[in-house]
Amino acid sequence: MKAIYPGSFDPITNGHLDIIKRSVKLFDELVVVVMENDHKSRVFSPEERIDMIRETTKDLDSKICVDYYAGLIVDYCNIKNIYTIVRGLRALSDFDFEFQFALTNRKLNEKVDCVMLMTSGEYSYVSSSTVRIIAAHGGDTSFMVPKYVEKKLKENYQKGEVE
Ligand code: ADP
Repeated sequence: MKAIYPGSFDPITNGHLDIIKRSVKLFDELVVVVMENDHKSRVFSPEERIDMIRETTKDLDSKICVDYYAGLIVDYCNIKNIYTIVRGLRALSDFDFEFQFALTNRKLNEKVDCVMLMTSGEYSYVSSSTVRIIAAHGGDTSFMVPKYVEKKLKENYQKGEVE
């Protein structure tokens, strides 16, 4: 069975990677899809986010592929003919959003179902938004993101490309 793991991945964190590593054990193929999220201010371009996911997952498994989609995830599911969506759950605060996400997508396309993986304890507080805040102030993000992402964050902030 194949699955899709959608998210903004702005940037990919160790928490996302944990979900990816665990998902490839459950599914024959995992498509990690970079989506646009209007509610979040974007820091990295889709190309940069794809590059960071590719670079940090390249040694993991050949069953992972990375893509970008600017539309609705249910439409992407139809294009790919994959109807299982993986999502990660950190704390109770994620539940409300993920509950809405799952039910709305199933309403839009009844073939679509979500599989929720509980975060691993050590990543329960890790989020892209926290990483962005720490990096914006020159703080240490090494315990939240892979080395390659840490480097990209530094480069971006040094160039003044990130707010
Ligand atoms: P974020 O919420 O960090 O901005 P995304 O929108 O890219 O990240 O999230 C994609 C999916 O990954 C969501 O289901 C989100 O709940 C999940 N996720 C994000 N960070 C973690 C984490 N540390 N542990 C488990 N799941 C996570």
